[in-house]
Amino acid sequence: MNYDNQNIFAKILRGELPCQKVYEDDHSLAFMDIMPQADGHTLVIPKYPAVTLLDIPADQLAALMASTQKVAAAVKKAFAAPGIVLFQLSGAEAGQTVPHLHFHVLPSSLRTLMTRAHAAQMEDQAKLAEFAARIRAALG
Ligand code: 5GP
Repeated sequence: MNYDNQNIFAKILRGELPCQKVYEDDHSLAFMDIMPQADGHTLVIPKYPAVTLLDIPADQLAALMASTQKVAAAVKKAFAAPGIVLFQLSGAEAGQTVPHLHFHVLPSSLRTLMTRAHAAQMEDQAKLAEFAARIRAALG
C-alpha cells in the first residue's frame, strides 16, 4: 500500500505538528489521542512508514509491540485501570481514519469505549497534557 508522508502522524513524527507525548524510542512514539474514547486513550505508532498492520516488517512490528506493552502497563498503572483495551484498525474499510499504522491503548472496557464514538470529539488540551504527564510518571 502506498504510504502518504503528508498524513497527520507522519507530520507528528517529523515534529511538524504537536502532540502530547508519553513515550519515544528508536522505533516508536506514543502520544495522547486528540479525540479519545476514554480518559487516557493513547496511540502507539511505529517510526517505520507503514499504513496498516500488513505493511510492516516483522522485526519492526516486534519492536512496536514491545513499546505498546510498555505503554499499556503505564496507562493501566496511571489510571488504576482494572483492564486495558488494545485495538488496531487496518484499512479505511475497517474504519481506519489516519493512514499510518497505530495501536490504540485504553484504560477502559469494551462496553465503556463503545459509549464514545470513534475519532469524534476533541478533548481539552490541558486535560490531555495532564493525562500524558500521569502516564510518563508511571513509565518511570
Ligand atoms: P484510526 O481511526 O486510524 O484507527 O485512529 C486514528 C486516531 O487518531 C483516532 O482515534 C483520532 O481521534 C486520532 N487523531 C486524529 N487526528 C489526530 C491528531 O491530529 N492528533 C492526535 N494526537 N490524534 C489524532
